Amino acid sequence: MSFPETRMRRLRQTEPLRALVRETSLNPGDLIYPLFICPGEAVRRPIGSMPGVFNLSIDEVVREAEEAASLGIGGLLLFGLPESKDEQASGAYDDKGIVQQALRALKNSPAAKKLVLIADVCLCEYTSHGHCGIVSETRDGFEVENDPSLDLLARTGLSLAQAGADIVAPSDMMDGRVAAIRSALDDEGCANTPILSYASKFASAFYGPFREAADSAPQFGDRKTYQMDGANIREAMREIDLDLEEGADMILMKPAMPYLDVIRAARERVDVPIGAYQVSGEYSMLQAAFEKGWLDRDRAILESLLGIRRAGAGFIATYFAKVAAKLLA
Ligand SMILES: [Zn+2]
Repeated sequence: MSFPETRMRRLRQTEPLRALVRETSLNPGDLIYPLFICPGEAVRRPIGSMPGVFNLSIDEVVREAEEAASLGIGGLLLFGLPESKDEQASGAYDDKGIVQQALRALKNSPAAKKLVLIADVCLCEYTSHGHCGIVSETRDGFEVENDPSLDLLARTGLSLAQAGADIVAPSDMMDGRVAAIRSALDDEGCANTPILSYASKFASAFYGPFREAADSAPQFGDRKTYQMDGANIREAMREIDLDLEEGADMILMKPAMPYLDVIRAARERVDVPIGAYQVSGEYSMLQAAFEKGWLDRDRAILESLLGIRRAGAGFIATYFAKVAAKLLA
């Protein structure tokens, strides 16, 4: 049947009717709130390119976590800014590292216990050169070495799990790191700690503001020899297959908005839970438009998140988590 018997507008007439036929839902529990943890006390340092986002000392992180829990947010994604950096990223796997300390503090907070604590596993925030692995000099410049980095990533994953991370999330894009982390966890009594792998992380301009937030910009070169080329969706599927073979329990797609087709393709290909990361640049460009009064803030935030859910992501890491949770309440 077609027009005039069929009229698509019949089901759009009222909000209750639209709600009844809505295909995709968005709830505070679907949202993961990323936090940047720095040394000190009562520190709440604004990040210029990300209005509303801060570097937070551990006491402030606990307060944010309590608020996030009261809003029904699903979890936190934790990044660290260490006191000092070196070529071996020793702050990443230090038992007294900044994220390890924060995890212990969060585990002592009754409110924060309602959240899933996800610890990012990477070296770039802890290396003096800002790359995600060990760097060696070569004739033509430098190389980020894959295999020697695996041991450090495995130590980092284990150290974070032992400090209380509910999930460890490797984001470095070294080959073989999921297997290395899985075996370190299994060997040391953390067989129940899940791995959320950033399986197909693209080399993206949209990470720009994050590098200010996490103080992790590479001091030379770029990350194109380990992060993926934005043109490649078949390669993304291979990355996902390999990470799952190595033991990843779930995958996180990153960035989200410019790669919604990749999220959809992953959703149709694999049966593990899939999350997506609405990355710093996606957040900052929306914030810039809000500041100029060019977009309706509340509607644009929810629409941007709904689009990611509709593409196939079950959960979303977003800097809008608190704002969105309030809008959804
Ligand atoms: Zn990294």
